[in-house]
Amino acid sequence: MALMSVAEALSLVAGPVEPLAEEWVPVAAAAGRVLARDLLANRSQPPADMSAMDGYAVRAADIVETPSRLRVIGESAAGRPFAGAVGPGECTRIFTGAVLPEGTDTVVIQENTARDGDLMTTTAPTAALRNVRKAGCDFAKGAPGLSAGHRITARDMMLAAAMDHAEIPVARRPRVALVQTGDELVMPGRGTGADSEIVVSNSFGLAALARAAGAEVMDLGVVRDDLAAIRAAIRQAMDGGVDILVSSGGASVGDHDLMAPALKAEQVELEVHKIALRPGKPLMFGRRGALRVLGLPGNPVSSHVCGMLFLAPLIRALQGETAPTYRTVPARLGCDMPANDWRMDFMRATLSDDGAGGLLATPLPVQDSSLLSVLAAADALLVRDADAPAASAGTPCQVILFQD
Ligand code: AMP
Ligand code: MG
Repeated sequence: MALMSVAEALSLVAGPVEPLAEEWVPVAAAAGRVLARDLLANRSQPPADMSAMDGYAVRAADIVETPSRLRVIGESAAGRPFAGAVGPGECTRIFTGAVLPEGTDTVVIQENTARDGDLMTTTAPTAALRNVRKAGCDFAKGAPGLSAGHRITARDMMLAAAMDHAEIPVARRPRVALVQTGDELVMPGRGTGADSEIVVSNSFGLAALARAAGAEVMDLGVVRDDLAAIRAAIRQAMDGGVDILVSSGGASVGDHDLMAPALKAEQVELEVHKIALRPGKPLMFGRRGALRVLGLPGNPVSSHVCGMLFLAPLIRALQGETAPTYRTVPARLGCDMPANDWRMDFMRATLSDDGAGGLLATPLPVQDSSLLSVLAAADALLVRDADAPAASAGTPCQVILFQD
């Protein structure tokens, strides 16, 4: 039987999902959060016509000739506007960011003037309407600034603040619980040194991926290869209001691979079980009520690649982010590649400059899914479609960049 494709599995895991409830956060704490509603400007920017330079606010009709001589009747500075109106033959001193006094429409820069008492003389021509930032030229009150589903960047925080939002509505952070299954597993620094022990690595990568995608992460620690213990961890997640339980290990079909039986016993309905993917074939995804469970293979590279391909997009989708799937960028093959088999492949690859402003992706020589040293040395995952034909060096390809 043909296994489910990566695209189909991804649409089941992170396809259209109902975003989590919204909450309001101070704009200073909004970095990386996903907007729950469109954000409109609460005021115009600039709120009035303002000077872009230091100089003199004038009526354009008064400075057609050079030189022109005008009487200085006051000053407009940032935050301290000129109270009166400027009539023909008059002007005011003005500074950057100050409101243009009533009656004026142009700013003559200081460098193009001479001053003598309360008289100002222009020394070079200035076009009408120059050096003025028109009211609303950045954004007008009521105009759409940022859209629902958009992930807030540092620049967006500046825009939201300038639009006069002290707090903004974002999707609640998905709660992710991690559990590592395996009788051989010990936490770093906690082992006895026995050769049969393996030090946990998966949870560290998955926690970092999940946090970067916007999740709140709790680590349920290591659970033995014991049906009752694994079932208890699933119930703990359910009772604890977890949105996504991520397990690693025990996902295959060996005698000690108990994830599928434990999920079945806890009535978690599996929608995905085994996909045509390398690394990560034994991936599981299921739901019970509001709880989603992602059962990842134990091999560290498989667990991390599946975290990038499925967990991060699911976390993003739950926050209502638009286009939440993994992102590829174009590159070209750095070496000849043999034809691929029926499993879509995500190969650990290094990137180099192709000499023409593009990227060359070259797979590392050993691709075994247990090799953390290779994963750490890679710059990207080189994507090879299922049944891709042999391709020679220089052929266009797609890569997924590590975002950390
Ligand atoms: P499993 O999927 O349980 O068959 O595990 C496959 C391989 O991954 C085994 O060699 C495990 O020791 C290893 N492994 C399982 N879980 C982890 C983990 N959390 N961290 C590091 N290695 C693991
Ligand atoms: Mg195991």
